[in-house]
Amino acid sequence: MQFSDFSLDKRLLQSLGHMGIETPTQIQQQAIPVALTGKDLMASSKTGSGKTLAFLLPAMQRVISTKALTKRDPRVLILLPTRELANQVYSQLRLLVANTQYKAISILGGENFNDQAKALARDPHFIVATPGRLADHLQQRHLFLEGLELLILDEADRMLDLGFAEQLKAINTAANHKRRQTLMFSATLDNQQVNEFAVELLKEPERIAIGSAHSEHLDINQSFYLCDHLDHKEALLLNLLNAEQHKQIIIFTATRQDTDRLASKLKETGLNAIALSGELKQNTRNQIMDSFSRGQQQILVTTDVASRGLDLLNVSLVINFDMPKFAEEYVHRIGRTGRAGAKGDAISLVGPKDWVSFNNVQSFLHKTFELSTVAGLVGKFKGLREKPKQTLRKPKANKAKATNKGSNTAGAAAPQKKRDRRFITGVDVGDAPMRRKPQSKLQETPED
Ligand code: ADP
Ligand code: MG
Repeated sequence: MQFSDFSLDKRLLQSLGHMGIETPTQIQQQAIPVALTGKDLMASSKTGSGKTLAFLLPAMQRVISTKALTKRDPRVLILLPTRELANQVYSQLRLLVANTQYKAISILGGENFNDQAKALARDPHFIVATPGRLADHLQQRHLFLEGLELLILDEADRMLDLGFAEQLKAINTAANHKRRQTLMFSATLDNQQVNEFAVELLKEPERIAIGSAHSEHLDINQSFYLCDHLDHKEALLLNLLNAEQHKQIIIFTATRQDTDRLASKLKETGLNAIALSGELKQNTRNQIMDSFSRGQQQILVTTDVASRGLDLLNVSLVINFDMPKFAEEYVHRIGRTGRAGAKGDAISLVGPKDWVSFNNVQSFLHKTFELSTVAGLVGKFKGLREKPKQTLRKPKANKAKATNKGSNTAGAAAPQKKRDRRFITGVDVGDAPMRRKPQSKLQETPED
Protein backbone atom coordinates (compact mmCIF):
# COMPACT_ATOMS: atom_id res chain seq x y z
CA MET A 1 0.00 0.00 0.00
CA GLN A 2 1.15 3.52 -0.83
CA PHE A 3 0.15 6.94 0.40
CA SER A 4 -1.14 7.61 -3.10
CA ASP A 5 -3.79 4.93 -2.50
CA PHE A 6 -5.53 7.32 -0.13
CA SER A 7 -7.24 10.23 -1.73
CA LEU A 8 -4.70 12.77 -0.59
CA ASP A 9 -3.90 16.06 -2.27
CA LYS A 10 -0.79 15.82 -4.42
CA ARG A 11 0.91 18.55 -2.41
CA LEU A 12 0.69 16.28 0.63
CA LEU A 13 2.19 13.41 -1.31
CA GLN A 14 4.98 15.72 -2.42
CA SER A 15 5.69 16.77 1.16
CA LEU A 16 5.84 13.13 2.22
CA GLY A 17 8.31 12.57 -0.56
CA HIS A 18 10.47 15.39 0.75
CA MET A 19 10.29 13.88 4.21
CA GLY A 20 11.53 10.60 2.77
CA ILE A 21 8.36 8.80 3.83
CA GLU A 22 7.10 6.23 1.38
CA THR A 23 4.98 3.45 2.79
CA PRO A 24 2.24 4.04 5.35
CA THR A 25 2.67 2.29 8.67
CA GLN A 26 -0.09 0.01 9.91
CA ILE A 27 -1.78 2.66 12.02
CA GLN A 28 -1.62 5.06 9.09
CA GLN A 29 -3.11 2.46 6.75
CA GLN A 30 -6.03 1.96 9.07
CA ALA A 31 -6.59 5.37 10.61
CA ILE A 32 -6.21 7.63 7.57
CA PRO A 33 -9.15 6.24 5.55
CA VAL A 34 -11.44 6.31 8.58
CA ALA A 35 -10.43 9.84 9.51
CA LEU A 36 -10.95 10.92 5.89
CA THR A 37 -14.60 9.83 6.03
CA GLY A 38 -15.20 12.39 8.76
CA LYS A 39 -15.95 9.84 11.45
CA ASP A 40 -14.76 10.21 15.02
CA LEU A 41 -11.89 7.93 15.90
CA MET A 42 -10.07 6.51 18.89
CA ALA A 43 -6.83 4.98 17.73
CA SER A 44 -3.97 3.36 19.54
CA SER A 45 -0.76 1.80 18.35
CA LYS A 46 2.63 1.31 19.84
CA THR A 47 5.10 4.10 20.43
CA GLY A 48 7.06 5.20 17.39
CA SER A 49 4.57 3.79 14.88
CA GLY A 50 3.71 7.03 13.10
CA LYS A 51 0.55 8.24 14.81
CA THR A 52 1.36 11.89 14.13
CA LEU A 53 1.01 11.61 10.36
CA ALA A 54 -1.98 9.34 10.88
CA PHE A 55 -3.85 12.42 12.08
CA LEU A 56 -1.99 15.25 10.34
CA LEU A 57 -2.57 13.93 6.83
CA PRO A 58 -6.36 13.59 7.12
CA ALA A 59 -6.46 16.95 8.92
CA MET A 60 -4.61 18.62 6.05
CA GLN A 61 -6.77 16.85 3.52
CA ARG A 62 -9.96 17.98 5.17
CA VAL A 63 -8.86 21.59 5.18
CA ILE A 64 -7.66 21.44 1.59
CA SER A 65 -10.73 19.74 0.21
CA THR A 66 -13.59 21.45 2.04
CA LYS A 67 -14.74 24.99 2.49
CA ALA A 68 -14.23 26.68 5.86
CA LEU A 69 -17.34 27.13 8.01
CA THR A 70 -16.21 30.57 9.11
CA LYS A 71 -13.48 32.95 8.02
CA ARG A 72 -12.31 33.67 11.52
CA ASP A 73 -12.11 30.42 13.42
CA PRO A 74 -9.39 27.80 13.31
CA ARG A 75 -10.37 24.72 11.34
CA VAL A 76 -8.15 22.21 13.11
CA LEU A 77 -7.07 22.20 16.73
CA ILE A 78 -4.49 19.69 17.92
CA LEU A 79 -4.00 19.37 21.68
CA LEU A 80 -1.04 17.71 23.38
CA PRO A 81 -0.06 17.30 27.01
CA THR A 82 3.42 18.83 26.90
CA ARG A 83 5.07 21.70 25.13
CA GLU A 84 7.88 19.58 23.74
CA LEU A 85 5.37 17.25 22.18
CA ALA A 86 3.37 20.14 20.80
CA ASN A 87 6.54 21.57 19.25
CA GLN A 88 7.32 18.28 17.64
CA VAL A 89 3.88 17.88 16.10
CA TYR A 90 3.93 21.54 15.09
CA SER A 91 7.17 21.09 13.18
CA GLN A 92 5.76 18.12 11.26
CA LEU A 93 2.62 20.10 10.55
CA ARG A 94 4.67 23.01 9.26
CA LEU A 95 6.37 20.78 6.74
CA LEU A 96 2.96 19.84 5.38
CA VAL A 97 1.49 23.33 5.53
CA ALA A 98 4.53 24.91 3.87
CA ASN A 99 3.44 23.47 0.55
CA THR A 100 -0.03 25.09 0.80
CA GLN A 101 -1.60 28.48 1.46
CA TYR A 102 -2.71 27.55 4.99
CA LYS A 103 -1.46 29.03 8.22
CA ALA A 104 -0.50 27.11 11.36
CA ILE A 105 0.52 28.44 14.77
CA SER A 106 1.36 26.92 18.13
CA ILE A 107 -0.07 28.13 21.44
CA LEU A 108 1.94 26.79 24.35
CA GLY A 109 2.07 27.46 28.05
CA GLY A 110 5.11 29.38 29.18
CA GLU A 111 5.23 31.63 26.13
CA ASN A 112 4.15 35.26 25.80
CA PHE A 113 0.38 35.55 26.19
CA ASN A 114 -0.02 38.81 24.27
CA ASP A 115 2.04 37.61 21.34
CA GLN A 116 -0.19 34.58 21.23
CA ALA A 117 -3.30 36.77 21.29
CA LYS A 118 -1.92 38.65 18.27
CA ALA A 119 -1.14 35.44 16.43
CA LEU A 120 -4.67 34.21 17.12
CA ALA A 121 -6.09 37.45 15.74
CA ARG A 122 -4.48 36.61 12.40
CA ASP A 123 -6.97 33.74 12.02
CA PRO A 124 -4.73 30.69 11.59
CA HIS A 125 -6.26 27.58 10.06
CA PHE A 126 -4.37 25.15 12.29
CA ILE A 127 -3.52 25.49 15.96
CA VAL A 128 -1.27 23.12 17.88
CA ALA A 129 -1.61 23.77 21.62
CA THR A 130 -1.35 22.64 25.18
CA PRO A 131 -4.86 22.63 26.69
CA GLY A 132 -4.39 24.96 29.67
CA ARG A 133 -3.11 27.88 27.65
CA LEU A 134 -5.62 27.38 24.88
CA ALA A 135 -8.48 27.35 27.40
CA ASP A 136 -7.15 30.64 28.81
CA HIS A 137 -7.31 32.30 25.41
CA LEU A 138 -10.76 30.91 24.87
CA GLN A 139 -11.90 32.41 28.13
CA GLN A 140 -10.34 35.75 27.16
CA ARG A 141 -12.19 35.52 23.83
CA HIS A 142 -8.98 35.65 21.85
CA LEU A 143 -10.33 32.84 19.77
CA PHE A 144 -13.63 31.23 18.95
CA LEU A 145 -14.20 27.65 18.06
CA GLU A 146 -17.65 27.66 16.48
CA GLY A 147 -16.09 26.98 13.12
CA LEU A 148 -13.74 24.26 14.30
CA GLU A 149 -14.01 21.21 12.07
CA LEU A 150 -11.50 18.88 13.59
CA LEU A 151 -10.36 18.45 17.18
CA ILE A 152 -7.42 16.14 17.72
CA LEU A 153 -6.33 14.91 21.13
CA ASP A 154 -2.90 13.32 21.00
CA GLU A 155 -1.78 11.46 24.14
CA ALA A 156 -5.32 12.04 25.39
CA ASP A 157 -4.86 9.81 28.43
CA ARG A 158 -1.91 11.86 29.60
CA MET A 159 -3.87 15.08 29.32
CA LEU A 160 -6.47 13.58 31.64
CA ASP A 161 -3.77 12.38 34.04
CA LEU A 162 -2.43 15.89 34.21
CA GLY A 163 -5.83 17.18 35.27
CA PHE A 164 -6.88 18.86 32.04
CA ALA A 165 -10.36 17.33 31.91
CA GLU A 166 -12.10 20.64 32.62
CA GLN A 167 -10.13 22.55 30.01
CA LEU A 168 -10.80 19.86 27.45
CA LYS A 169 -14.48 20.01 28.22
CA ALA A 170 -14.52 23.78 27.91
CA ILE A 171 -12.85 23.51 24.53
CA ASN A 172 -15.25 20.79 23.51
CA THR A 173 -18.24 22.90 24.48
CA ALA A 174 -16.95 25.92 22.59
CA ALA A 175 -16.35 23.83 19.49
CA ASN A 176 -19.95 22.90 19.06
CA HIS A 177 -20.44 22.67 15.33
CA LYS A 178 -22.47 19.60 14.55
CA ARG A 179 -20.12 18.58 11.78
CA ARG A 180 -17.11 18.64 14.05
CA GLN A 181 -14.93 15.60 13.99
CA THR A 182 -12.83 14.39 16.92
CA LEU A 183 -9.79 12.12 16.84
CA MET A 184 -8.04 10.65 19.88
CA PHE A 185 -4.61 9.04 19.67
CA SER A 186 -2.25 7.40 22.15
CA ALA A 187 -0.22 4.26 22.68
CA THR A 188 -2.40 3.68 25.74
CA LEU A 189 -6.11 4.34 25.41
CA ASP A 190 -7.73 1.31 26.92
CA ASN A 191 -8.54 2.58 30.37
CA GLN A 192 -11.76 3.56 32.00
CA GLN A 193 -11.04 7.22 32.54
CA VAL A 194 -10.33 7.77 28.86
CA ASN A 195 -13.36 5.80 27.82
CA GLU A 196 -15.69 7.75 30.07
CA PHE A 197 -14.23 10.91 28.69
CA ALA A 198 -14.55 9.72 25.11
CA VAL A 199 -18.26 9.16 25.60
CA GLU A 200 -18.61 12.88 26.27
CA LEU A 201 -16.42 14.12 23.45
CA LEU A 202 -16.75 11.66 20.62
CA LYS A 203 -19.74 10.63 18.56
CA GLU A 204 -19.91 6.90 17.95
CA PRO A 205 -16.19 6.71 17.43
CA GLU A 206 -14.61 4.07 15.31
CA ARG A 207 -11.94 2.28 17.31
CA ILE A 208 -8.63 1.13 15.95
CA ALA A 209 -6.14 -0.63 18.16
CA ILE A 210 -3.02 -1.98 16.50
CA GLY A 211 -1.65 -4.47 18.99
CA SER A 212 -2.30 -3.40 22.54
CA ALA A 213 -0.42 -1.36 25.07
CA HIS A 214 -0.04 -4.63 26.93
CA SER A 215 1.63 -6.46 24.15
CA GLU A 216 5.32 -6.62 23.79
CA HIS A 217 7.33 -4.12 21.81
CA LEU A 218 9.60 -6.57 20.05
CA ASP A 219 12.09 -3.94 18.97
CA ILE A 220 12.83 -3.09 22.59
CA ASN A 221 14.86 -5.47 24.70
CA GLN A 222 13.76 -5.08 28.35
CA SER A 223 15.61 -6.12 31.48
CA PHE A 224 15.97 -5.17 35.16
CA TYR A 225 18.49 -5.06 37.98
CA LEU A 226 17.73 -5.23 41.69
CA CYS A 227 19.19 -2.48 43.86
CA ASP A 228 19.49 -2.07 47.62
CA HIS A 229 19.60 1.71 47.91
CA LEU A 230 20.46 4.91 46.09
CA ASP A 231 24.23 4.43 46.16
CA HIS A 232 23.82 0.96 44.79
CA LYS A 233 21.59 2.26 42.02
CA GLU A 234 24.12 4.89 41.10
CA ALA A 235 26.97 2.37 41.06
CA LEU A 236 24.95 0.09 38.80
CA LEU A 237 24.00 2.97 36.58
CA LEU A 238 27.61 4.05 36.07
CA ASN A 239 28.60 0.50 35.39
CA LEU A 240 25.87 0.12 32.76
CA LEU A 241 26.68 3.44 31.15
CA ASN A 242 30.31 2.50 30.82
CA ALA A 243 29.79 -1.10 29.83
CA GLU A 244 28.24 -0.72 26.42
CA GLN A 245 28.32 1.66 23.54
CA HIS A 246 25.05 3.43 23.08
CA LYS A 247 24.16 6.24 20.78
CA GLN A 248 21.95 8.33 23.01
CA ILE A 249 20.47 7.45 26.37
CA ILE A 250 17.49 8.73 28.35
CA ILE A 251 17.41 8.21 32.11
CA PHE A 252 14.08 8.67 33.89
CA THR A 253 13.96 9.64 37.55
CA ALA A 254 10.99 10.08 39.87
CA THR A 255 11.42 13.73 40.75
CA ARG A 256 12.90 16.83 39.21
CA GLN A 257 15.34 17.18 42.11
CA ASP A 258 16.77 13.81 41.16
CA THR A 259 17.29 14.84 37.55
CA ASP A 260 19.64 17.66 38.51
CA ARG A 261 21.49 15.66 41.11
CA LEU A 262 21.98 12.68 38.88
CA ALA A 263 22.98 14.68 35.82
CA SER A 264 25.62 16.50 37.90
CA LYS A 265 26.95 13.19 39.16
CA LEU A 266 27.24 11.83 35.65
CA LYS A 267 28.98 14.97 34.48
CA GLU A 268 31.46 14.69 37.34
CA THR A 269 32.46 11.29 36.06
CA GLY A 270 33.09 12.73 32.60
CA LEU A 271 29.83 11.68 30.93
CA ASN A 272 28.08 14.09 28.62
CA ALA A 273 24.74 14.46 30.38
CA ILE A 274 22.05 17.12 30.65
CA ALA A 275 19.00 17.42 32.91
CA LEU A 276 15.50 18.37 31.78
CA SER A 277 12.59 18.94 34.12
CA GLY A 278 9.19 20.55 33.74
CA GLU A 279 9.91 23.43 36.07
CA LEU A 280 12.58 24.95 33.86
CA LYS A 281 11.71 28.01 31.78
CA GLN A 282 10.26 27.06 28.45
CA ASN A 283 13.15 28.61 26.58
CA THR A 284 15.61 26.53 28.52
CA ARG A 285 13.52 23.43 27.96
CA ASN A 286 13.47 24.05 24.24
CA GLN A 287 17.21 24.61 24.14
CA ILE A 288 17.84 21.40 26.05
CA MET A 289 15.61 19.31 23.81
CA ASP A 290 17.08 20.95 20.79
CA SER A 291 20.65 20.31 21.70
CA PHE A 292 19.93 16.75 22.83
CA SER A 293 18.05 15.93 19.65
CA ARG A 294 20.96 17.29 17.64
CA GLY A 295 23.24 14.89 19.49
CA GLN A 296 25.17 17.46 21.49
CA GLN A 297 24.73 15.45 24.66
CA GLN A 298 24.73 11.72 24.96
CA ILE A 299 22.56 11.42 28.03
CA LEU A 300 19.30 13.12 28.94
CA VAL A 301 18.21 12.80 32.57
CA THR A 302 14.55 13.66 32.94
CA THR A 303 11.20 12.96 34.56
CA ASP A 304 7.98 11.88 32.88
CA VAL A 305 7.82 15.31 31.27
CA ALA A 306 9.75 13.60 28.46
CA SER A 307 8.17 10.17 28.65
CA ARG A 308 5.56 10.78 25.99
CA GLY A 309 5.74 10.99 22.30
CA LEU A 310 9.13 12.60 21.81
CA ASP A 311 10.59 11.32 18.61
CA LEU A 312 14.33 11.03 19.18
CA LEU A 313 15.63 8.65 16.60
CA ASN A 314 19.10 8.14 18.10
CA VAL A 315 18.04 6.97 21.53
CA SER A 316 19.13 3.37 21.83
CA LEU A 317 18.83 2.93 25.60
CA VAL A 318 16.20 4.00 28.13
CA ILE A 319 16.98 3.55 31.81
CA ASN A 320 14.34 3.72 34.51
CA PHE A 321 16.47 4.95 37.38
CA ASP A 322 13.19 4.98 39.30
CA MET A 323 10.12 3.11 38.19
CA PRO A 324 7.18 5.21 37.03
CA LYS A 325 4.03 5.30 39.13
CA PHE A 326 1.81 4.10 36.29
CA ALA A 327 2.44 1.13 34.09
CA GLU A 328 1.25 3.11 31.06
CA GLU A 329 4.04 5.59 31.67
CA TYR A 330 6.53 2.74 31.49
CA VAL A 331 5.25 1.90 28.02
CA HIS A 332 5.70 5.49 26.90
CA ARG A 333 9.11 5.90 28.53
CA ILE A 334 10.66 2.87 26.90
CA GLY A 335 8.98 3.91 23.66
CA ARG A 336 11.53 6.72 23.35
CA THR A 337 13.72 4.00 21.87
CA GLY A 338 12.88 1.37 19.27
CA ARG A 339 11.25 3.99 17.06
CA ALA A 340 10.30 3.62 13.42
CA GLY A 341 11.61 0.07 13.29
CA ALA A 342 14.94 0.67 15.07
CA LYS A 343 16.10 -1.55 17.94
CA GLY A 344 16.54 -0.38 21.51
CA ASP A 345 17.21 -1.46 25.07
CA ALA A 346 15.26 -0.62 28.20
CA ILE A 347 16.69 -1.22 31.65
CA SER A 348 14.90 -0.78 34.97
CA LEU A 349 16.72 -0.32 38.26
CA VAL A 350 14.42 -1.74 40.89
CA GLY A 351 14.91 -0.98 44.55
CA PRO A 352 12.54 -1.62 47.46
CA LYS A 353 10.60 1.57 46.72
CA ASP A 354 10.15 0.56 43.08
CA TRP A 355 8.97 -2.92 43.79
CA VAL A 356 5.22 -2.37 43.63
CA SER A 357 5.44 -0.22 40.50
CA PHE A 358 7.74 -2.72 38.90
CA ASN A 359 5.25 -5.52 39.48
CA ASN A 360 2.45 -3.38 38.20
CA VAL A 361 4.39 -2.98 34.98
CA GLN A 362 5.00 -6.71 34.69
CA SER A 363 1.35 -7.39 35.24
CA PHE A 364 0.26 -4.67 32.80
CA LEU A 365 2.49 -6.13 30.11
CA HIS A 366 1.71 -9.75 31.01
CA LYS A 367 5.43 -10.24 31.06
CA THR A 368 8.01 -11.47 33.52
CA PHE A 369 11.21 -9.56 33.09
CA GLU A 370 14.49 -11.30 33.20
CA LEU A 371 16.75 -10.36 36.09
CA SER A 372 20.18 -9.16 35.04
CA THR A 373 23.15 -8.77 37.34
CA VAL A 374 26.54 -7.13 37.28
CA ALA A 375 29.33 -9.13 38.89
CA GLY A 376 30.51 -7.39 42.04
CA LEU A 377 27.32 -5.32 42.24
CA VAL A 378 24.79 -7.90 43.34
CA GLY A 379 22.91 -6.60 46.37
CA LYS A 380 20.82 -8.15 49.09
CA PHE A 381 17.43 -7.01 47.88
CA LYS A 382 15.55 -9.85 46.22
CA GLY A 383 12.07 -8.36 46.02
CA LEU A 384 9.43 -7.82 48.64
CA ARG A 385 6.92 -10.19 50.06
CA GLU A 386 4.81 -7.57 51.72
CA LYS A 387 3.23 -4.74 49.90
CA PRO A 388 4.57 -1.40 51.09
CA LYS A 389 1.90 0.64 52.84
CA GLN A 390 1.63 3.79 50.75
CA THR A 391 1.45 4.10 46.95
CA LEU A 392 -2.00 3.01 45.90
CA ARG A 393 -4.47 5.78 45.72
CA LYS A 394 -7.79 5.94 44.10
CA PRO A 395 -7.93 8.03 40.97
CA LYS A 396 -10.00 11.15 41.30
CA ALA A 397 -11.46 11.45 37.90
CA ASN A 398 -12.27 14.87 36.53
CA LYS A 399 -11.47 16.72 39.68
CA ALA A 400 -9.30 19.42 38.21
CA LYS A 401 -10.68 22.92 38.17
CA ALA A 402 -10.43 25.19 35.21
CA THR A 403 -8.50 28.23 36.25
CA ASN A 404 -6.90 31.03 34.39
CA LYS A 405 -3.51 29.52 34.83
CA GLY A 406 -4.43 26.02 33.89
CA SER A 407 -4.99 23.65 36.73
CA ASN A 408 -2.29 21.79 38.48
CA THR A 409 -3.68 20.73 41.77
CA ALA A 410 -4.80 17.26 40.82
CA GLY A 411 -3.85 14.49 43.06
CA ALA A 412 -2.25 16.03 46.06
CA ALA A 413 -5.17 15.22 48.30
CA ALA A 414 -6.38 12.02 46.70
CA PRO A 415 -7.58 9.65 49.37
CA GLN A 416 -5.86 6.41 50.24
CA LYS A 417 -7.20 3.51 48.32
CA LYS A 418 -8.44 0.50 50.16
CA ARG A 419 -5.95 -2.31 50.26
CA ASP A 420 -6.11 -4.19 47.05
CA ARG A 421 -5.58 -7.88 47.52
CA ARG A 422 -3.90 -8.36 44.19
CA PHE A 423 -0.95 -6.38 45.41
CA ILE A 424 -0.38 -8.02 48.75
CA THR A 425 2.22 -10.49 47.69
CA GLY A 426 3.93 -7.93 45.53
CA VAL A 427 4.81 -10.77 43.20
CA ASP A 428 1.69 -12.24 41.72
CA VAL A 429 -0.38 -9.25 40.87
CA GLY A 430 -2.76 -10.84 38.43
CA ASP A 431 -3.71 -9.11 35.23
CA ALA A 432 -6.22 -6.54 36.32
CA PRO A 433 -6.00 -3.11 34.75
CA MET A 434 -3.67 -0.59 36.27
CA ARG A 435 -4.92 2.04 38.61
CA ARG A 436 -4.22 5.52 37.52
CA LYS A 437 -3.99 8.48 39.74
CA PRO A 438 -3.27 12.12 39.19
CA GLN A 439 0.30 13.24 39.62
CA SER A 440 1.61 13.75 43.12
CA LYS A 441 3.21 17.05 43.96
CA LEU A 442 6.63 15.53 43.87
CA GLN A 443 6.20 14.67 40.25
CA GLU A 444 6.09 16.99 37.31
CA THR A 445 3.67 19.85 37.31
CA PRO A 446 1.27 19.84 34.43
CA GLU A 447 1.81 22.10 31.51
CA ASP A 448 -0.25 25.22 31.22
P1 ADP B 1 4.11 7.82 17.47
O1 ADP B 1 3.30 9.09 17.61
O2 ADP B 1 3.31 6.65 17.04
O3 ADP B 1 4.94 7.53 18.68
P2 ADP B 1 5.55 9.38 15.49
O4 ADP B 1 4.39 9.90 14.75
O5 ADP B 1 6.27 10.30 16.41
O6 ADP B 1 5.15 8.06 16.28
O7 ADP B 1 6.55 8.78 14.38
C1 ADP B 1 7.75 8.14 14.73
C2 ADP B 1 8.79 8.32 13.63
O8 ADP B 1 8.43 7.57 12.49
C3 ADP B 1 8.94 9.76 13.16
O9 ADP B 1 10.30 10.04 13.02
C4 ADP B 1 8.25 9.78 11.83
O10 ADP B 1 8.79 10.76 10.97
C5 ADP B 1 8.51 8.39 11.32
N1 ADP B 1 7.46 7.93 10.40
C6 ADP B 1 6.14 8.18 10.47
N2 ADP B 1 5.46 7.58 9.48
C7 ADP B 1 6.37 6.92 8.75
C8 ADP B 1 6.31 6.10 7.57
N3 ADP B 1 5.14 5.85 6.98
N4 ADP B 1 7.46 5.59 7.10
C9 ADP B 1 8.65 5.85 7.70
N5 ADP B 1 8.78 6.61 8.82
C10 ADP B 1 7.66 7.13 9.34
MG1 MG C 1 2.96 10.46 19.11
